[in-house]
Amino acid sequence: AADHELLLSYIRDVPDWPEPGVMFKDITPLLRQPDVFAKTVDLLAAAADGPIDAVVGIEARGFILGAPVANRLGAGFVPVRKEGKLPSDTSSASYELEYGQATIEVHRDAFTDGERVLIVDDVLATGGTVRATVDLVRAAGAEVAAVSILMELGFLHGRKKLLDVDVHVLLSL
Ligand code: 5GP
Repeated sequence: AADHELLLSYIRDVPDWPEPGVMFKDITPLLRQPDVFAKTVDLLAAAADGPIDAVVGIEARGFILGAPVANRLGAGFVPVRKEGKLPSDTSSASYELEYGQATIEVHRDAFTDGERVLIVDDVLATGGTVRATVDLVRAAGAEVAAVSILMELGFLHGRKKLLDVDVHVLLSL
């Protein structure tokens, strides 16, 4: 509980960003504090139950958190990126946003069959991003061991899209 209060105290609310009516959860103060950042990485890594071959980080804040988690677990790191950013052959998944659609991609050769993967991101909002990432990883032949998220915006019910996945969340709002 003390850890949770500590982490929460380093997340800043930014009203009306990126658009009016949205209260954005800004994790940059948490990243700036070495001990709090390190604690966050430890807690995110603890979602792994058993060996992890690769940590998948979702662009862009999932890279910042996922890469140190991968190191901590002795796992590799795989970036899931927005459309058009990865240089080699990719698989893609599209999902609905409030307005329009988004597409994310992963390299086709990122995993070998049966590898155990931990997915890391900063915020679970509507769940569309993590859902698409889970589908990408599974389509690539790997197993999603767990999803580890810093903060869940519970009022958006993202977990309803993730009933078939082991989701671990450090902070729930
Ligand atoms: P979802 O697909 O669950 O609706 O949105 C999750 C994605 O949007 C995550 O990759 C997350 O980084 C980003 N996101 C949505 N809302 C917030 C927020 O309030 N703060 C932060 N830091 N990221 C957000």
